[in-house]
Amino acid sequence: MIVTLAPNASTEHIQEISNFLGRSGWKTTPVQTQSARYLVGIGSKEIDLRQVSQHTGVQDVHRVTDVYKLVSRAWKVKPTQIELGDGVVIGEGSLTVMAGPCSIEDEQQVAETVDFLSSQGVQVMRGGAFKPRSSPYSFRGVGLEGLKMFASIARAKRVKVITEVLDVSAIEPMLDYVDVFQVGARNSQNFTLLDELGRVDKPVLLKRGLSGTLEELLQSAEYIFSKGNEKVILCERGIRTYEKAYRNTLDLNAIPYLKEKSHLPVVVDPSHGIGLRKHVPTMALAGAVAGADGLLIEIHRCPEEALSDGAQTLSFEEAAELFKNLEKLAAAGIR
Ligand code: PEP
Ligand code: MN
Repeated sequence: MIVTLAPNASTEHIQEISNFLGRSGWKTTPVQTQSARYLVGIGSKEIDLRQVSQHTGVQDVHRVTDVYKLVSRAWKVKPTQIELGDGVVIGEGSLTVMAGPCSIEDEQQVAETVDFLSSQGVQVMRGGAFKPRSSPYSFRGVGLEGLKMFASIARAKRVKVITEVLDVSAIEPMLDYVDVFQVGARNSQNFTLLDELGRVDKPVLLKRGLSGTLEELLQSAEYIFSKGNEKVILCERGIRTYEKAYRNTLDLNAIPYLKEKSHLPVVVDPSHGIGLRKHVPTMALAGAVAGADGLLIEIHRCPEEALSDGAQTLSFEEAAELFKNLEKLAAAGIR
């Protein structure tokens, strides 16, 4: 159950509601986000919601039977749109392209990518400064100084920055240089990281875990939301299956399913989803047709020279071709 509290609800009123629910066998957790205050009730005892809504301080009450609550459509029917500023919105009704290298490398690479994206009308650039790598001997990113460089070059052209945060201690130093925090597949269930990202007022793009179920993804999103941050974006990036022909299996089923179950925006990452450059554009288009609210795509001036994930990275020419095809889909009303 979700009790939305009236803006003027007093501490005493909230205590009273909570006590009433407690007596009725429901455990409550108070939640305060950027936009409202709630009591999330967990319980299974029969309860008449009208009795709850009669309490002073209650704005409305919803029964939510999903294991996740605040991210559920059962509570909030209207899709969430997340604003990044300068007119950039992620959510229902738009297809927001976020493109850039797997890893930030140097100034020239960032400047060339920003210029390319700007020429294509793409307003969000991805780029990892802190890289989670399977091998400790692989390139692990340019770190905070590199992120500062990335942000200053991108922002000079009004391009937004999405980048991965690996651990709690990095959140604060990164805060001023990030427009969207990315939580990688390997951290999808790092609950202390999710808790802390719930305390910042910045959008968080949360990737599905390598072997994560959709219910687990939604519960991870609930961690962020219930700690106070409503600006959560879900990302399907492929899962591990028995199939070895490609890096991961992009689960396009996830898009309509997540959009049915949750009001949060859903983004697709076809680069990690298939891991094969040749097929990334096809899967990006498929993701768009399946209803994704955005695409996260790896691009590089020269993919062969990329310091990470070159094999799944599009060249600028390939990316431009894909963007043109996305426009054709939009023009045809297919999306
Ligand atoms: C990435 O976006 O470069 C990345 C590391 O992704 P994932 O966490 O999905 O593997
Ligand atoms: Mn990558």
